[in-house]
Amino acid sequence: MGRLGLSIDWSNEYATMKPEYYVKTQTSFVRMYQKGQIYREDHPVNWCPRCGTAIALAEVEYDSRTSTLNYMHFCAEDGEIEIATSRPELLPACVAVAVHPEDQRYQKYIGKTVNVPLFNYSVPVLADRAVDSSFGSGFVMICTFGDKQDVRWWMEHHLPLRQAIDRGGRMMPIAGPYSGLTVEETKEKITQDLTEQGIIFKQEPLEQNVGLCWRCKTPIEILSEQQWFVRIDAPEIKKMAEEIEWIPPHMRVRLENWADSMEWDWCISRQRIFATPIPAWYCRHCHEALVAEESWLPLDPNLTQPKKKCKCGSSEFIPEQDVLDTWMDSSISALAVAGWPDRTDLRMPTQLRPQGHDIIRTWAFYTILRTGALEGIRPWDAILINGMALGEDGHKMSKSLNNFIRPEEVFESNGADALRQWAAIGGSPGNDIPFQWKEITAASRFQQKLWSIFRFSLPLIAPADAAKGQVDHWLSAELDQLITKTTEAMDRFQFDEALKAIRAFAWDVLADNYIELVKARLYGQDGPEKRAAQDTLFTALETLARLMAPFTPFLSEEIYHTLTGQSVHVQSWPAARGQPMDRAGLAIKEVASTLRRYKAEKGVALNSPLPGIVVYSDLDLETADLAGVANSPVESRTGKPSLEMKPIAVKPQMKVIGPRFRDRSQRIIMALMGMDPADIARQKEAGSIAVDLDGEILELPPEAAEVEIQTLSAGEAVDILKTKEATVLVRR
Ligand SMILES: [Zn+2]
Ligand SMILES: [Zn+2]
Repeated sequence: MGRLGLSIDWSNEYATMKPEYYVKTQTSFVRMYQKGQIYREDHPVNWCPRCGTAIALAEVEYDSRTSTLNYMHFCAEDGEIEIATSRPELLPACVAVAVHPEDQRYQKYIGKTVNVPLFNYSVPVLADRAVDSSFGSGFVMICTFGDKQDVRWWMEHHLPLRQAIDRGGRMMPIAGPYSGLTVEETKEKITQDLTEQGIIFKQEPLEQNVGLCWRCKTPIEILSEQQWFVRIDAPEIKKMAEEIEWIPPHMRVRLENWADSMEWDWCISRQRIFATPIPAWYCRHCHEALVAEESWLPLDPNLTQPKKKCKCGSSEFIPEQDVLDTWMDSSISALAVAGWPDRTDLRMPTQLRPQGHDIIRTWAFYTILRTGALEGIRPWDAILINGMALGEDGHKMSKSLNNFIRPEEVFESNGADALRQWAAIGGSPGNDIPFQWKEITAASRFQQKLWSIFRFSLPLIAPADAAKGQVDHWLSAELDQLITKTTEAMDRFQFDEALKAIRAFAWDVLADNYIELVKARLYGQDGPEKRAAQDTLFTALETLARLMAPFTPFLSEEIYHTLTGQSVHVQSWPAARGQPMDRAGLAIKEVASTLRRYKAEKGVALNSPLPGIVVYSDLDLETADLAGVANSPVESRTGKPSLEMKPIAVKPQMKVIGPRFRDRSQRIIMALMGMDPADIARQKEAGSIAVDLDGEILELPPEAAEVEIQTLSAGEAVDILKTKEATVLVRR
């Protein structure tokens, strides 16, 4: 972080596993418990049998897998029914079967019972609109619990609980002969047994969306467990999310969709070892839970006993072994840096939460929830969502794909500033940013350019109080516009726009135009003109260093410190003065670049002198800088030049004449070449060209010949260059 130049207030550093921090997490638990926002209940939870812990819905990943759909016979009071299931191992957990109330095939079974094969007990036949009649036979088996739909049915129909799978993913005694086997072993063995007994009579492949543990990718089970839960008030969270500025705004929709999809409260207890202890005990006699008082915190219930007796009078307690979900720690990080819970003037909301889009459902969601629950306010004014860095293969950088670049590799080859520029310019916030070495190279090249501008300027510049010329005013105005643009982009967190504007200014405006224009003054005799250029360039570099400090802190510091003897990182952000564009200066700059293009087109070296230049413009342009940059005498006049257009040659157009006059074309061309160019120009103007072909007069269309015009000014041949504000005559 230091090498990257991150500016961090280390006085607010925290480690969630340290008592100084987890006392805050425990305090938040106690306060929310006292307010009824945290409760303990026997409730179905997502469970990873491999990790041996409950996990939150936000930690369940979904993946499609192919499994087998098994068709089974169940004995009903009145004949047999067919039921299809992909999870025959849950047969001992079956608590009901259901059909759609309008399924005409099965009306007679509704309200009766069927017998669960192998385990031989009766379950009711329910009617429920959520049953999909087109799936399998139209009958569905409700187990505790195959999936979330089972949980819904279980709650709606007040069904009993038959838990068949334990915390380790093994079958419980209720599974009879399969007790002690893993889920996978049971699935295999019970399928075999059911097939042998003719209960399974048909099988077909089934594409399924399976919930997996985010950590180990094991399929999750839904178990009913005594767990601690945080109440989720989705409308309240959505309301608070609206008070926050989301950058980019569409990311808020992701949070809202997530809030709308929450069916269960947030399960916060984890069966793990390293995490914040839940400050609670259970009475050995009446089993009542006792949550610690705030003044007892921080504590580990395994090491400390409660400082008071149970309501029943007993003082024998069993400590809570479960620990808190890690998001319980991190969801109060904004509160922690704001001084919670000790500061009376809580610095809330904080200004900004920067985070990735992959943890909107967790870090953003839980932080809003908890800050709202604990303090009744939003945690931040704004949330800035960043995308992921993608490897050169276009995939998210990851260790397993081995497509990552260590930041140190870039530091060593190109420096931290180049890496920072890549991150800033790679895209607008929220978008993933592909890593490309060519972007790093471009960033380096820009730094080298800036450094050479600086090296060139350093011996020539100094702050001075001197009357500025038109070109100086133009640069000051351009700089002012850059400040406005950059400030506005930074206010919107559009770092890429800001950096692009800075780069364009440095390359085009400053290096290619201004410095070229004022070189002659900078190298010339001391005087107010020279000092004005020295001061203008000094200000431009000093300002540029401040604007670039967030992007290239190291290079900016070097430049700024050399210029002023101070650190750029304690300076204020440049303020725009609303300076209007200097039209005359801008016109001079445009004339200069037009002359440069003219020389390039003529194949003339840029510093080779031209015979003479006259610039006409209503703006009364200063000539000194133009004379310097063109290395030629320059005259400036107001008004329009008086020009004489003299036709000097005829160019017959074969592509017009050929198709029309075929074998006579050659003679027509010869005739045209023999005519007076001025005469042809007049005839073109009139609409047609008459050619005398040995007495026969042919009428040619005006496009049949072009006339080359030479422009004369006061009798001298000149080339004319036009810009928006000026007409430039160059003597030939
Ligand atoms: Zn797991
Ligand atoms: Zn008790």
